[in-house]
Amino acid sequence: MAQNTFRNTWNRYRSVSIAYRIGAAFVLGSIVGLTVGGPATVLEPLGDLFIRLLEMLVIPIVVFTLLMGIRQLSPATLGRVGGQVVLLYAFTSAVAVVIGLAVANLVDPGTGLTLTDEPVEAESPPSPTEVFLGIVPENPVDAMANTDLLATLFFVIVFGLALVLVAEEIDDGAVERGIETIFDITEAGSEAMFKVVWGVMEYGVIGVFALMAVVFADTGPGAIRAFVTLILALTLAVALHIAVIHLGVLIVALTHQSPIAFLIGIKEALVTALALASSSATLPVSMANAEDNLRINEGVYGFSLPLGATVNMDGTAMYQGIAAVFAANLVGASLTLTEQFVVVVLAVLASIGAAGVPSAGLIMLTLVLTQLGLPLAVIGFVAGVDPLLDRMRTMTNISGDLAVATVVGHWNGAVDFGSGIWDGAVTEAPASAGVSD
Ligand code: ASP
Repeated sequence: MAQNTFRNTWNRYRSVSIAYRIGAAFVLGSIVGLTVGGPATVLEPLGDLFIRLLEMLVIPIVVFTLLMGIRQLSPATLGRVGGQVVLLYAFTSAVAVVIGLAVANLVDPGTGLTLTDEPVEAESPPSPTEVFLGIVPENPVDAMANTDLLATLFFVIVFGLALVLVAEEIDDGAVERGIETIFDITEAGSEAMFKVVWGVMEYGVIGVFALMAVVFADTGPGAIRAFVTLILALTLAVALHIAVIHLGVLIVALTHQSPIAFLIGIKEALVTALALASSSATLPVSMANAEDNLRINEGVYGFSLPLGATVNMDGTAMYQGIAAVFAANLVGASLTLTEQFVVVVLAVLASIGAAGVPSAGLIMLTLVLTQLGLPLAVIGFVAGVDPLLDRMRTMTNISGDLAVATVVGHWNGAVDFGSGIWDGAVTEAPASAGVSD
């Protein structure tokens, strides 16, 4: 009897989409953090466990899906996909900064606040040559071991293309079979990894509760009140950018698909990004959404999502613009039109340079503030609320990556709009895929 009640409750719990369960955990965790305060930080290891579980999956999923994708798309298509992805990434990031600046000019965050001096060391951003050379790994195993996504992508693409070319040219049954086997293994490997992702997401309900409790225990209502205009400016800009650019321009105008379907299709990735504040750690979930719900070909998302996690950061770029206006307001200065143009260029560069890890965007602010001659102390000043702002930035970054993957997939006939979320067949992640009842 008791066993039956337990089983029924458990089944009812499992029948709710994992994204909604995680969303509820997000809200409850935030409330617990705000009300309990300091003691809630004991939950930290539970949150860290969720992050580690997802981080564990990043490199295997990237390697498996990308190799699988290279098998399916011709080298010419891959080249075209690469060009389109990079162009759309640059375009959406630049627009994000313009939206950020426009909203910041309207909301005027920071007026009325006085800067308390928190000394901050300027980070010297890597030079363009360093960035360029860094794409080529000295040692692919080392690149994978350090989750260096760009270097890993480079090696996997070279290796995958070489496998395809050898298979085309060689007249040796053993080698051909070997290549087929490698590709078959990557397919099996990626299926297995996606199974693990959905299993990890089941734990995510606890993990996200803990993460949010700790964030709000650390931040507290005082910090939120003090920085309310900054939080408001970013919230408005993020909402505007996602609604107009990601949904309106990319999904509706360019792919002629339903923005609601798209949002439902990526909801697990969005809540995970909000909870983790890391594009890289969210990558396994974004890829699972692209595969299971958006039905994009691996050749497109296997390349564009890992690349996007490191270089395409609309939210991060937008925040640089908002923070520049905020910093100017704090010292009673205002940015001229020319300076605002400089901010657009710098912010896009800073967002490309920022890694997909928590607070990378805050550190990159040193670049923008130094160039504008604004005090670096602003960074220490806002660091207390950055865990909140970072979550909104990361969610925007992830939404941008997935919207671009959908458009480029559409342009290359590499999205199945007749299935998945698009025809309503999959309304949520396969919640029961990972764990048996
Ligand atoms: N945390 C962000 C990300 O991983 C980067 C940032 O700090 O803006 O996408």
